[in-house]
Amino acid sequence: MDTSELIYFDYNATTPIDERVLESMMPFFKGYFGNSSSNHHFGKNINKAVQKAREQVSDLINAEPKEIIFTSGATEAINLAIKGAVIANQAKGRHIITCKTEHKAVLDTCKYLEEIGFEVSYISVKNDGIIDIDEFKKELRPDTVLVSIMWVNNETGVLQPIEELIEITHQNNSIFFTDATQAVGKIPIDVYDLDIDLLCFSAHKFYGPKGIGGLFVKKGIKVETQTHGGGHEIGLRSGTSNVTAIIGMGKACEIALEEMDKNAIKILNLRNELETHLLKIEDSFINGNKNQRLYNTLNICFPDFDANIFIDKYKNIAVSNGSACTSALVQPSHVLLAMGLNEEEALGSLRISIGKENTYNEIKAISKLLIKLLQYA
Ligand SMILES: *Cc1c(COP(=O)(O)O)cnc(C)c1O
Repeated sequence: MDTSELIYFDYNATTPIDERVLESMMPFFKGYFGNSSSNHHFGKNINKAVQKAREQVSDLINAEPKEIIFTSGATEAINLAIKGAVIANQAKGRHIITCKTEHKAVLDTCKYLEEIGFEVSYISVKNDGIIDIDEFKKELRPDTVLVSIMWVNNETGVLQPIEELIEITHQNNSIFFTDATQAVGKIPIDVYDLDIDLLCFSAHKFYGPKGIGGLFVKKGIKVETQTHGGGHEIGLRSGTSNVTAIIGMGKACEIALEEMDKNAIKILNLRNELETHLLKIEDSFINGNKNQRLYNTLNICFPDFDANIFIDKYKNIAVSNGSACTSALVQPSHVLLAMGLNEEEALGSLRISIGKENTYNEIKAISKLLIKLLQYA
């Protein structure tokens, strides 16, 4: 293999923008510059385009356009969902339930809420990464105001049993929020059918621009704004709309809906091919439930291997160990530790996340390289 070839296998961290998305955005950088809140001609045209994007987003998850709140991405949407819901609904209580394998945006928001007087239960996962339902049921209390459980784990691709969790949560009259940042645009989502209360997403995880995302807020669910000001986004997120990015996210949603099945099949085949090759490496094993797992993610442990050395040495091959957000510090992934891996196993794990632009040749190249490195080390 040409060892300098650039290969991108980090689609769970971010994705390149789709050419058609970029094209849809271009006019709004220059000619169409109005403020979507203005009533004059310049504003009205923009407002129409933003409204269309809101419909494209809501269509992807089967919501109503007015249930979509645009934010700067998933992190902001998570902050709005969790803080906003628990503050607006404190009359029910001040107890929150989440899971140990959540994204840092959820965990750190919960930690902050603990500091200001809320109580949080962090539910364990089984060795396969799936939440411990019995523990979850035990922790639910009359004063549990919010349950926050992610749909797809960004490190392992593990899918949580969302439907069952929602049912149990609603029997307890608690609000259900899901961080669906790795699910939206990749798998079919029907918020209406599943009766989801709050759900967040981010465009740059599905070939849209960075710095734009949103929160779905089911009609009737009370959320207190975390950004006060001019009352944009039905009062939930003040600030002049990031029009260009919103248009791009709308287009990315439309494309995702149209091409989801085609991409899923292609990517699943590539992932399975890679997995078959890499599992031939002695003692290697998959992190996460093999059946309840997103089709694009392979998180694989090679005991006695230092994933960081690999990542440092082959900078032209983009893979990840642990979540990108904590990779500045070489720490074992909190997700893998929660799944019962020891520190060495966690540090010996690689996350290879595949996207629509990967090729069979790239799969062959990384397989060969890893097999060579690990088998004859
Ligand atoms: C990427 C990601 C986030 C953060 O999204 P941003 O839009 O970059 O803030 C949150 N949760 C999950 C599961 C993610 O994969």
